[in-house]
Amino acid sequence: MKRIAVLGAGAMGGLFGGRLSASGYPVVLVDIDDAHIGAIASRGLHLATDDGDRFIPVQIGRAESLHGEVDFLFVFTKAHHTVSALASVRHLIGADTWAVTLQNGLDAGDRLAQTVSRRRIAIGMTNWPAQLVAPGHVVSHGTGEVRIWSLSSDADPALSEIAAVLTHAGLQCVVDPNVLVAIWEKAAFNAAMNAISAVSGMRVGEMADSPDIRAIAAAVVRETVATARAAGIEADEPRIRAAMEHAYTGHRDHRPSMLQDLAAGRPTEIESINGAISSYARRFGVSVPVIETLAHLVRAMSSIRG
Ligand code: NAD
Repeated sequence: MKRIAVLGAGAMGGLFGGRLSASGYPVVLVDIDDAHIGAIASRGLHLATDDGDRFIPVQIGRAESLHGEVDFLFVFTKAHHTVSALASVRHLIGADTWAVTLQNGLDAGDRLAQTVSRRRIAIGMTNWPAQLVAPGHVVSHGTGEVRIWSLSSDADPALSEIAAVLTHAGLQCVVDPNVLVAIWEKAAFNAAMNAISAVSGMRVGEMADSPDIRAIAAAVVRETVATARAAGIEADEPRIRAAMEHAYTGHRDHRPSMLQDLAAGRPTEIESINGAISSYARRFGVSVPVIETLAHLVRAMSSIRG
């Protein structure tokens, strides 16, 4: 039985860790939020999904209180906390441990590679949704999938093992050598929806009702696809536009996480999303003025609210 740790046990870490634990794997959650740790330690992880509402008993603690190397380490902190969080769990990482990141943005694998060998890092994308609504309480409605591949681009039997474990836990994971396409397409979606929402203060439905916002979002998608293609990644503009239409109609009340983070004075993932696309664009000589403007605005707003 694979031993699993989940680093960052918030919305996504709670969903993945909870489902993995409920399906029988030995899971340990690692976090730094004492209220959250206390709630889960005392009554279990409260996980509400379309399958029902349940309390899942699962081990949780701060890194320093946990011992023993794990087989798979799922990293679900926000991007900017990745490096320090990984440093805190070095003692859980052995020579054969695989670290898996499904974090948003374009730089997640490289952040993991500051601590873990590139040969044992799986990068990927998930469109499972999750929200942390209170300490110890995660809500995730709807369905999703996971796509993974290696950071090194090499095939490895461990990838199929990781996919099998996630699929067994009901999280539908496939091994996809073209995972960078999925990662870039999600980055395009987030560079538009998250950054525009953060700057405008609008919910998804309000964005959908504004032709001006739709035009800005479409420009972000065009710029991201042009950058991806310059980098040799066949991102598909109609597929991204379709995902946005789905959000415009199906998630009208949603306040994207970057808006929530900015409003709460927390750091945002702007550098891993719009900032990272801009870096690639500079490297390949692509012009991305709308993406850069949004990044400047989010940075400026963070500097007065953070
Ligand atoms: P979150 O803020 O709900 O959870 C992050 C957790 O990391 C928090 O519980 C926090 O206390 C913990 N943390 C911070 N520093 C830590 C450290 N040093 N050690 C251990 N834990 C630490 O965030 P989230 O929404 O779960 O997002 C996690 C990642 O997944 C992000 O990259 C996000 O973009 C991505 N993602 C989120 C969703 C979603 O629907 N929420 C979907 C797909 C991808």
